[in-house]
Amino acid sequence: MTFPSTATKAKVKPYSAPADSRDPSPELRFISDLGRSLLFTVHPKKVACRVSGALQLRVNAEICVFVAELENIGVVSCGFDKHGQLETNFIDKQRFEKWLKLLPPQIGYVEENEAEFLSKGCERSIEYISPLHINGEIKGAIIVGFAMRAELDDSRARLIDAATQMAAMSVNLSAHYEAAINTSITRAKEEHRKFTEAILDALPVSLYVVDRDYRIVTWNRHREIGSQGIPRDSAIGRNVFNVLARYPEGRVREEFERAFDTGQIQRIEQQTAAEDGSTQHWMVSKIPMRDPDTNEVTHVITVGEDVTERVEAIHAVGRAEKLAAVGRLAAGVVHEINNPLATIAACAESLEQRVEEGAFEDCEAVDDLGEYLGLIKSEAFRCKSITTGLLDFSRVRTGARNLIDLAEILRSSANLLSHQKRGDNIKIELEIADNLPQVKADGGQLQQAVIALATNAIDAMPEGGTLTLAVSGRGNRVSLEVRDTGVGIKTDDMSKIFEPFFTTKEIGKGTGLGLAVCYGIITDHGGRMSVRSNLGKGTTFTIVLPGAGNRVS
Ligand code: ADP
Ligand code: MG
Repeated sequence: MTFPSTATKAKVKPYSAPADSRDPSPELRFISDLGRSLLFTVHPKKVACRVSGALQLRVNAEICVFVAELENIGVVSCGFDKHGQLETNFIDKQRFEKWLKLLPPQIGYVEENEAEFLSKGCERSIEYISPLHINGEIKGAIIVGFAMRAELDDSRARLIDAATQMAAMSVNLSAHYEAAINTSITRAKEEHRKFTEAILDALPVSLYVVDRDYRIVTWNRHREIGSQGIPRDSAIGRNVFNVLARYPEGRVREEFERAFDTGQIQRIEQQTAAEDGSTQHWMVSKIPMRDPDTNEVTHVITVGEDVTERVEAIHAVGRAEKLAAVGRLAAGVVHEINNPLATIAACAESLEQRVEEGAFEDCEAVDDLGEYLGLIKSEAFRCKSITTGLLDFSRVRTGARNLIDLAEILRSSANLLSHQKRGDNIKIELEIADNLPQVKADGGQLQQAVIALATNAIDAMPEGGTLTLAVSGRGNRVSLEVRDTGVGIKTDDMSKIFEPFFTTKEIGKGTGLGLAVCYGIITDHGGRMSVRSNLGKGTTFTIVLPGAGNRVS
């Protein structure tokens, strides 16, 4: 609906009292001034103070107190004496509550030593009680204390009653207003809390927060999952050392104390063993949180990030660099050594032949000569096998690539191994899944890798056991496993086994090149190689290779 435009033109003229009109009575002016000031007062406490302060001054009371018990807000009170606003404890709470419960409450005045509502503290002989009617019920009162009985005259009593009625209305309105504000603040706070919680839960790191008493106040979703996970319900509100009981308390406490004491971020690298025996790497940060007002560290946030992939990638790069360096060195050295080795072996062989032909028959040491020549020959061949290994190593990057069926590679490897004399009491099992993706690879090299892994597995089972060669497809990837039930690998050795020349085998039995060559072959084929091991139970080497995009038919 629109008002006629003329309406907006109507002008309200300011009222000025006629020249002969008398001033209103001081009481009337007081009430109207009080009413006007209460119009802009929106907090119950402020209403209480404004009314009690103005009234005390106006009636020149020793003391004037406003007290009310409001729904959703609680007790609101304020008082003034001749020196200004009172501190706390000016109401005799017990008496006041008793009075409130009396129905109907007594209204009027109480004289000294009868039943005063106000605590002692100022000279007064009489208290006037004016009840606050809110929504038809008495919810409190304005209590005014005078030094002399005579000061409480009729006009003062009426003034107090009028002010009380106004105060009742005003405090009721402001209480509703405050309650509404409080609910919307509570709702906004709750929404904010949920939003913050959602952010913390969305983070791909595990996060929890403890306060100064080491009580857990926040525990995000990521901290609930995984092998180290703990449900939020069994963490929040509890002492962190009880919740993390599986970790050594001394160490955990020290980490927290350092963050609280220094106020600096602490970064700690940690390793945990996953259930499958593989190692997980964590970067744990303890971040001190300060109170913005006092600047004191009140909480410590702990953030744990799984950096396994990153750490493994760094190791892999280091390994690859080392392998490349060794490869270059090997290629250069092998040629230089192979020729003299061949000469040594050839000379030894021809000398042996001469011995056989009787050329040294007259010599006493002919038997020794034969034996030594044999030794020279066999050692020269051993050296040759090492240089061949090195050559394999440096040649890793040269093979031709064809479409290969890994199942075939496993079958022929198993065949080769079963014809070897070693490992009589070893059972070889094949697990070949259907519908495998083909890979584009150098078949000879892959076979070499499988044989190297299988040979190690057999070496790890001197008392016999089971060697399993398994292959399965996962999307366009092929996963190849060489499992044994052997002695396992020590945790300390885990990071070294792929290094060229690392071996735990006795001299003559191992060159320490098998895994290094394997590793080179697999990474060169765009694949990945990993190992899990349980000491005394066995070891599994896993190779994952990218498929060529089509399946073995
Ligand atoms: P080598 O076999 O000549 O020692 P490798 O590079 O093939 O060299 O292996 C390095 C080391 O890794 C071995 O000496 C052994 O300690 C360890 N290793 C490899 N495979 C296994 C396995 N299946 N079980 C236990 N230990 C193994
Ligand atoms: Mg080996």
